[in-house]
Amino acid sequence: MDVKGAAMARGVLMRVKNRNLRQSINSLLADLLNKGLLEAVLVPQPVSSKESVVQTLVTEPEKLEGANVLAPVLPVSSAQIVSHITRLGASPKPLGLVMRSCEIRALIELVKLKQASLDNLVTIGIDCLGTYSVRDYADMVSRKEDPTHSLLEGVKEGEEGSYLRPACRVCEHSVPAFGDLTVGFIGLEWEEKFILEAGSQRGEEILAALHLDSSQSFPQREKAISQLTQERTNKRDELFSRTRKEISGWENLSSVFATCINCHNCMTACPLCYCKECFFSSSTFEFEPSKYLQLADRKGILKMPTDTLLFHLGRMNHMAVCCVGCGLCEQACPSNIALLKIFKMVGHQVQGVFKYVPGRSLEEEIPLAVFKEDELEKVGEE
Ligand code: SF4
Ligand code: SF4
Ligand code: SF4
Repeated sequence: MDVKGAAMARGVLMRVKNRNLRQSINSLLADLLNKGLLEAVLVPQPVSSKESVVQTLVTEPEKLEGANVLAPVLPVSSAQIVSHITRLGASPKPLGLVMRSCEIRALIELVKLKQASLDNLVTIGIDCLGTYSVRDYADMVSRKEDPTHSLLEGVKEGEEGSYLRPACRVCEHSVPAFGDLTVGFIGLEWEEKFILEAGSQRGEEILAALHLDSSQSFPQREKAISQLTQERTNKRDELFSRTRKEISGWENLSSVFATCINCHNCMTACPLCYCKECFFSSSTFEFEPSKYLQLADRKGILKMPTDTLLFHLGRMNHMAVCCVGCGLCEQACPSNIALLKIFKMVGHQVQGVFKYVPGRSLEEEIPLAVFKEDELEKVGEE
């Protein structure tokens, strides 16, 4: 059921100017604005300290000069931002979105959940070798390192960088499988060239308007993508096997979440937790003092805050079919709880039952959101 990194890498080879991939991509985006093919583009830009990036909606081409779509840090999923922009209605003008694979996949799920609209949007996927945590990225910058350069060079040397977020070390989707356009550099000499692929009719039209012919194929790139996907899939399977042992049984599972302070940051950071009124934030979980004492009296001890495990099991139940494994829940956790491996593993198992891959297709209906009479017949027989 796994999506391959890319079905077939076909596109047009673009020259990197002055050995600067970041600026060359910015020039391409500015070209799309200048030619009126896009009215605005959503891109990350460094904050003034350079220690992180923020998403920005840019309408003036010259404001793209500082953008860094390659910065390996993901403070927020832009799927959430697109949902905020389009939840009340479709964008009236063509809007380009530069997004990593996990962000596009989350956006596809949000569209199916009626939390975003793709009308008039142009998704511009970008190859993703991984991201550092917000804190590690800031630390690297304060040590005068260039995280973008370190990551690209590290991968070229066959080293991924020991700081990659756990989600990225086991991500099988480095290349966006769904995008009107894809900017790709995996398998290429990224200081000299990158490719631009069209993944839809809209993408083809944009390339035609730029007088670019996207008929070239890149077997070397396909090989590199397939190798990276396989390496990360192997790491993922090893992680799943360790995790299964770590969380087996009620005691072990409870101990993983023991330090949870019930702040719900994981829920806020998750691009797919979209309910405005969450049951777990409701008054259902507010008790009279006497109730707490009564609960404590049952075993003589009560772990506080209460109901944290219930919160995680409830969230897992909601998330399992759509979880895209971005790991933003884990990044947001002040207690450093290793959420990704559990949510990704449970998601993988549930998605496998339904042969569903979140973010693979807009047409594929979300399991459990649709009633199918002949589904799950074998459950309980094995
Ligand atoms: S989860 Fe995958 S797509 Fe998302 S940032 Fe990490 S490597 Fe990139
Ligand atoms: S549960 Fe965690 S890993 Fe899954 S989509 Fe939400 S934030 Fe990403
Ligand atoms: S972010 Fe961490 S501490 Fe906060 S509710 Fe989630 S798991 Fe618990």
